[in-house]
Amino acid sequence: MHEVQLLIGGHWRNSSERESFRVLDPATGEVVGQAQAASPEDASKAIEAAYEAFAVWSKEPPHLRGAILKRAAQLARSRAEELGRLLTLEQGKPLKEAVGEVLAAADALEYFGEEGWRIIGDIFPPNRKGRANLVLKRPLGVVVAISPWNYPVLLLSWKLGPALIAGNTVVAKPPSEAPLAATLFTALIQEAGAPPGVVNVVTGRGSRIGPILVTHPLTAKVAFTGETKTGKEIMALAAQGLKRLSLELGNSTPLLVFPDADLGAAAEAAAYRSFRNAGQICNAVNRIYVHQEVLDGFLTNFLDRVAKITVGHGLQNPDMGPLCTEEGLLRTQAHVRDALERGATLLFGGDRLRGEGYERGFFYQPTVLLHVPPEALVMREETFGPVAPISTFSRVEEAIALANSTPYGLVAYAFTKDLGVLWALAEGLEFGTVGVNNVVGGEFPYPYAGWKESGLGVENSTYAVEAYLQLKHLRIDV
Ligand code: NDP
Repeated sequence: MHEVQLLIGGHWRNSSERESFRVLDPATGEVVGQAQAASPEDASKAIEAAYEAFAVWSKEPPHLRGAILKRAAQLARSRAEELGRLLTLEQGKPLKEAVGEVLAAADALEYFGEEGWRIIGDIFPPNRKGRANLVLKRPLGVVVAISPWNYPVLLLSWKLGPALIAGNTVVAKPPSEAPLAATLFTALIQEAGAPPGVVNVVTGRGSRIGPILVTHPLTAKVAFTGETKTGKEIMALAAQGLKRLSLELGNSTPLLVFPDADLGAAAEAAAYRSFRNAGQICNAVNRIYVHQEVLDGFLTNFLDRVAKITVGHGLQNPDMGPLCTEEGLLRTQAHVRDALERGATLLFGGDRLRGEGYERGFFYQPTVLLHVPPEALVMREETFGPVAPISTFSRVEEAIALANSTPYGLVAYAFTKDLGVLWALAEGLEFGTVGVNNVVGGEFPYPYAGWKESGLGVENSTYAVEAYLQLKHLRIDV
């Protein structure tokens, strides 16, 4: 049993309402931990503590703030096994991937720790004699950082890093399904030397404490990753106080396979990105469009790889663990049923896993569907499950139109060696990240930004630091 408390103003405490909630292993249904259910009063206290700490933290030279972030990165690396194990237990992902998530989150803190030296203002030429015009970059104040359960640690680090290096203080709100590792990871920043109140953590139901955090008069910015629906709710709440926003939301990631593609590489990449973390990634492949001339070759390669995917408890280090939530399992089942009812062909999987080791977990088979019509739910909504729906195209323009045919625009992938096709994709795809001959999603030091209903603003890269700063024009008549 692992227990975490609330971290407010440098102190670990219980909820003022003495309420806590259980954390379950999605592979077995067993209770693996407990977290405090913060009350609205706790949420307000956390914001106030962060506000108080801002006065000190914002005045530290950025490279000293960076030194603390880099120390926290080292602490996280030294505890990666322990935190990774906890993450597997609460979230379900294979242990090697959970440890990898903690290490990647440490890298994010390290990267942003370095960015301290690059927060540079501007001096404009004078518009009259004896006048100087300086543009200073200043932190915003208190940032509320909210992460979802699919990458609770990593996606928090993408907010903690830029917010803190820019001089802001943070109230972190980890997801209720997986609050343990994210809480302990955030606390490492305090352990590394950040003064009390610079990082605070409140766990508890987002629908209850989220609105308190977002609308609090002392909150300056909300940085959120999660569902588009929740993002829109937060945006409406934030509008009341005109809070700054970064929103990283849902997606429906297309993967296009052109006739000249290396089919082995495309199939390998498609299998990896469709089923990693059981498909619960915002940049997981949601829709595969294959040129009709190479469909057979692609399928042979793809099914060969899918058949080798192992599924089990994350601690046994299979290729794929269970889905994190029962809701996700039910949605995956409903999406597959819907596709089959609309005429799709089932090529692999198609049901939850049963039998020894799978009895009480949310396990679903890696599933491949062919000739899935565009109106099927799997082609329109984010399934967030291990399903690879395949359809075909015959022209480049058709492939681009199919890829763009959703309200989302986070990531798209394509496999081709044709320079003309590549440039048509670069111009035509309405996505913030386009991977050609690779399926890499968010990666440092490059920007990660959702277009359309996939979000607002940008994470990672030096652009992310700018999103936590505001400009001040200083006009001096000397
Ligand atoms: P949710 O939107 O349900 O929850 C995300 C976080 O928001 C949780 O911490 C949740 O708390 C909190 N929350 C819920 N309601 C509110 C509210 N009214 N105000 C403030 N906070 C609230 O998303 P999921 O956890 O289900 O995550 C999956 C989604 O995340 C997918 O749609 C996926 O695409 C998206 N995602 C996007 C990424 C990107 O970079 N664009 C990356 C990864 C995931 P609680 O858990 O207590 O409900």
